[in-house]
Parts: sequence; C-alpha cells; structure tokens
Amino acid sequence: MSESIHAEVVVLGAGPGGYAAAFRASDLGKSVVLIDKGKTLGGVCLNRGCIPSKALLHLARVKSESAEVKSFGLSFSEPEWDLEAVKKWKDERVVGRLTKGIAALAKVRKVQVIEGSGVFVSKDTIEVTKEDSVTQVTFDDAIIAVGSHPTKIPGFPEDPRIMDSTSALELDGIPEKLLIIGGGYIGLEMGTIYSAMGSEVTVVEFMPNLLPGADPDVVKPLEKRLQKDFASIRTATKVQGIEALPDHLAVSIEGANGVETLSVDKVLVAVGRRPNTHGSGFETIGLDINERGFIKVNQRRQTNIPHIYAIGDITGDPMLAHKATHEGKVAAEVIAGEPAAFDSSVIPAVIFTDPEIAWAGLTETQAKEQGIEYDKGVFPWSASGRALALGRTEGFSKALFEKQTGRLIGMSIVGTNAGDLIAEAVLAIEMGADAEDIALIIHPHPSLSESVGNAAEIVAGSITDLFAPKK
Ligand code: NAD
Repeated sequence: MSESIHAEVVVLGAGPGGYAAAFRASDLGKSVVLIDKGKTLGGVCLNRGCIPSKALLHLARVKSESAEVKSFGLSFSEPEWDLEAVKKWKDERVVGRLTKGIAALAKVRKVQVIEGSGVFVSKDTIEVTKEDSVTQVTFDDAIIAVGSHPTKIPGFPEDPRIMDSTSALELDGIPEKLLIIGGGYIGLEMGTIYSAMGSEVTVVEFMPNLLPGADPDVVKPLEKRLQKDFASIRTATKVQGIEALPDHLAVSIEGANGVETLSVDKVLVAVGRRPNTHGSGFETIGLDINERGFIKVNQRRQTNIPHIYAIGDITGDPMLAHKATHEGKVAAEVIAGEPAAFDSSVIPAVIFTDPEIAWAGLTETQAKEQGIEYDKGVFPWSASGRALALGRTEGFSKALFEKQTGRLIGMSIVGTNAGDLIAEAVLAIEMGADAEDIALIIHPHPSLSESVGNAAEIVAGSITDLFAPKK
C-alpha cells in the first residue's frame, strides 16, 4: 500500500520537542504532518523517561517521608509494594493519560499524525514505512526532532539482566542487588527508585564525584543521604567487564581498592545518551553533522539545508526536554515568518533525587574556570522555618552575582523541591536582576522559596534571618 501527501511543515519525531513544534506550526496557520514510529506520541520523555521516572520517584519520596516522620510522632506500618498495581498506575493513569491528552491536542489542531519510521529520500520528501505500507510525505519545511538513545558500553554481554533506562522503568521485578554504572541524572534517579523498592544499590562512577556537572558542595547533601540509602557508592571507579552467569552477573570493577568482582542480580547502564544520527537518511540529503553525531544548526535552528530545521537532543547538549520544547517553538515560529531565535541565557538542570539538585546559569566551578569575579550568597536551609517544619534542613540555596555588573549569573539549589524553586532564578537571570532586585521581592512565608530571596539578601547586605551584615 502506498500513499502520497503534502504538508507545509513535516515534523520527524514526536517527543516534547517534536510535538511542541508541530502544534506551534499548526497554531501559526501551517498544515502539519507529525511522524513517529512509536504507538503513542510523547517520545522517550513521556513514554519511557522523564514522566514515568517522576511517578516512581514520587512513590519513593512518600515511602522515605513516611519513615522519617516516625521520629516526629507519626507512625505508619511498613509499606508494601504491589508492583503490578504500581505499573498499572504509572502506565495508564500517568503516561497513558498524558499521551491520550497529546493525541487529543493533535486532533483538535488537525495535525496529521503518521505512525512509522520516517527516512529522508530527498531534500523535500520523507518516506514513512510501517510494516508493508509506505507514505511519501513531501514538504515545504521540515523539522527533525529524532532525539537520542542510551549509550552502550562495548563488550558487555547481551543479557536481559543488563538494563538501560527504558528497561529499568519497565519494573520487571525488584532485583535484590542492583549495580548502576554511571552516577549521573539517570543513575541517581533510578537508584533512588530501586533502593526505595528494596534493592541493595551500588553506584559505580568513573569520575571522582557524582553528578560531575554540578558543584561538589551542592552534591554533598545528596551524597550523604544516598550513602545511607545505597549499599555503596564507588567514585573514580571503572567497570572492566561483566560476566553473565546463570544465577548472577559477575561485575569486575577497578577503583581505590584495586580490582574487585561484585556479584549482582541486575545492572543498569546509565552512562549518557547518543544522538539518533543514523537511519533517517541524513547522509542521503547531505546534512551537516559534527564529529559527535549532532546536527549543526544556527540560532534559528536551521541546518545547512535552509528549509530543514533540527531541534532537541539531535542538536547537542544539554539533552533536556525543556530545551527541546523551546527549540521546537522557535523553529515553528521561524518557519511561520516570525522573528524568532534561540537566545535563552540559561537552561535549568534538575536532578529529581531526594533531595533534589537544580541549577541555572553558571555553576561556581564554571564561574571560576571562566575567571569571572563574583559575590556569593549561600543561605542554609537550617535557618528556614519551612525546611525545619518539613524535617529537611540539609539543603541550601547558593546565588552568584557578577562583581562587574551586579547581575545574578548562576544559582544552585540542593533540597526538597529544588527543581521548582530554580524557576525563580531562571527568571531573574533572564531579566538581568541584581541582588537587590531579588532581595526586594516579597517571598511568601513560610516557604522554601524564601531561601532564594535570602541568598540574594546576603549579597545585598539586608539579611536578617542570619547574622551576616555586609562588610
Ligand atoms: P549523565 O551524563 O547525566 O551521567 C552519566 C554518568 O556516567 C556521568 O557521571 C559519567 O561520568 C559516568 N560514566 C560515563 N562512562 C562511565 C563508565 N564507563 N563507568 C562509570 N561511569 C561512567 O547521563 P545519564 O544519567 O545516562 O542521562 C542521560 C541524559 O538524559 C542526561 O545527560 C540528561 O540530559 C538526560 N536526563 C535528564 C534527566 C532530568 O532532567 N532530570 C533525567 C534523566 C536523564
């Protein structure tokens, strides 16, 4: 079966970047076709990534909080996991509800969704194949949003007990002993989930610190807590190999204690992601691709072929859904003739562990590396009434203001709900706020958001919740 259709805009890939691009282009009056090989829209993030992991992290947090409040005078009986019920809730009531919502949004906008694998056969045609049906889609403009996939470590055996983030989220049983390779976003979030479900979790990280992109002082409160929850955290440690034995996996690692062999039930490999560079005909049409496999784009998200745009993970780091969504809207607006460009000053990063870690703008490490002189305000949550009431005082909010301009250039937060709190810093940086601007904002009391204002007050010299008068 073969069919030919034409769209003014075709979007390849329906993740958070692709569907946002398609919807924005449609809202701006374009006829749009959205192609994805998945059965549902939403891509990795919604179906097999950000959303299901956040659902499970919520359960992990409820479990740890219900245990914590025992010392405050409220006791619950030991929680029990009904894995089948959890999977049903995650898949149907969280992921399913969102994917249905996106499908409904596509329908109401008259965005034509085609399920199948799309390959560029020329600079104005994508061929979409699903089983024995082929659809030729010709277009005026195209937006590539094909995303990324988990990095594999060469030489590991093919064994279902060696998981990536997708299979780990399927919750195919709770391993007694789980080894996680990679102490980044996925390793620590999934470690938090599996540890709450009862697995003995060991994390092996190649670099000297967990979350190498974050400031070490910000990681410390999280690491302290994970050291209690996880069986062990091995930094500056390499995995040499895995042997798949009938009743366990033998993993040899090399670190500070020399070479050791760990016996575990499952392994999760979480060592980063790679762009989906191959299989979509990019070479056929001569797209400019860099040595790491990312498609090169300009500020308008145009590739070297001016009517073909690229957004999201396929264009490079940071591989974050919110960056992809923003880029998708930019590309759609450029196509519709609007004066749009990707010129955000900051892209926030959040690790949804417990406590959460979030930052926006420069980390302190980056400010030092770049030789930028700054004033720093660090507000410890031990002085926050709200944090005390929650029993979670280990966090802090750290604000960096450039000496030369006085402007906020970076904020890092560790603590409960840091991922929500960081939004204020993003706004402040984008608006060019200085310490006084933020210090003069009335923050609601008692709230964790006060800590953002307090960090600015330290630099502005107006803090009263600590004794730190400006010299
Ligand atoms: P990551 O880059 O966050 O972490 C990978 C970690 O593995 C790094 O710390 C790295 O030093 C380490 N590593 C690399 N090779 C190793 C090896 N051979 N042995 C031991 N350690 C090794 O990558 P990730 O956790 O796989 O996540 C992939 C991407 O997905 C992230 O970069 C992020 O963009 C995205 N993501 C975001 C979120 C979020 O926004 N909360 C959550 C999950 C994933």
